[in-house]
Amino acid sequence: MKILQDLTLENLKELISSLGEKPFRAGQIFRSLQSGRKISEMTDLSTAFREKLLSEYEDEPVKIIKKLVSKDGTEKYLFALCDGNIIECVFMKNAYGNTQCLSTQVGCRMGCKFCASGIGGLVRNLTPGEMLATVAEVNKINGGTLQKRAVTNIVLMGSGEPFDNYDNVVAFLKLLSDKNGLNFSMRNISLSTCGLVPEMIKFANEGLPLNLTVSLHNPINSERAKLMPIAKAYSVEEILSACDNYFEKTGRRFIFEYSLVKGVNDTDECLNELIRLLKHRPCHVNIIRLNEVKENGLKATDDKSAYRFADKLTKGGLSATVRRLFGADIEGACGQLRRTYIKEEGNL
Ligand code: SAH
Repeated sequence: MKILQDLTLENLKELISSLGEKPFRAGQIFRSLQSGRKISEMTDLSTAFREKLLSEYEDEPVKIIKKLVSKDGTEKYLFALCDGNIIECVFMKNAYGNTQCLSTQVGCRMGCKFCASGIGGLVRNLTPGEMLATVAEVNKINGGTLQKRAVTNIVLMGSGEPFDNYDNVVAFLKLLSDKNGLNFSMRNISLSTCGLVPEMIKFANEGLPLNLTVSLHNPINSERAKLMPIAKAYSVEEILSACDNYFEKTGRRFIFEYSLVKGVNDTDECLNELIRLLKHRPCHVNIIRLNEVKENGLKATDDKSAYRFADKLTKGGLSATVRRLFGADIEGACGQLRRTYIKEEGNL
């Protein structure tokens, strides 16, 4: 079975005409899908047409199977895909809007030491329509419409490496920003990469000027490689030059994520190297408190030291803040909830 949400408006127009339906149906179906309606709920279509679509396309490509609500209001959803795989996504409410954090892959093959998503390796890529369907669903169940969205910001910071699923992520971003649908502005979308340099360079030319975020976590190559295997393929210098290129092409400043691991990357040596490398660059450093994952034994730097680290970066001439904690009591970190769920089901 195929996924109707994977189709662009142009693709839908072709499908509709091949099925002998009136052209205006394409836009109607596109809007319905982006509003989070199932095919079976599209009662504005004839029963025969709906049945024809349902014989080839999934009615519900993603289905919420569990919802957790944190004390701070953060919501975490577990979605089941049609092949039985499970993905997770987080919905955070801020004063300036509501942010949905979504996954781009089932699992991940980047193997970052601190991250729960990579423990079981990569299972498969998500399709553009699966990613879109999670946004449409979360928007709908929070009372949003196409005209007035409940989801105002999107961050591709869930499980998976977006640039390891490049074509599908680009197709998803085009669906998401389609004026006929959810109509997201690239300014409200952030994409986080562990630093796949060739894709970072390619992406700068896509005409999708979103907020590019890079997981740095250590400015010293040999030390970074101990946390992130990808550092063996691309150096910090190559990443920085890809970031500079992104700024030149898009005018968007870039962001670095830096999850503090006690005694590992919270040292003065790291601090000074960060200042040296980033001081004159148009960037911001997001200091993240490590979400401890039992399996890897890494410990978080305490809060006071985290704020001190950010403060020293600021005094060194950088723009740096400590990221607010969201949903720590509901396993907010990448891949944690999916892992627990699969374990409970006895599959791990
Ligand atoms: N693959 C992408 C996006 C996914 S992770 C990337 O690497 O950027 C989003 C961010 O959360 C990344 O910066 C990642 O390194 C970080 N992260 C993952 N697990 C974490 C944990 N347990 N504690 C703190 N940050 C974590």
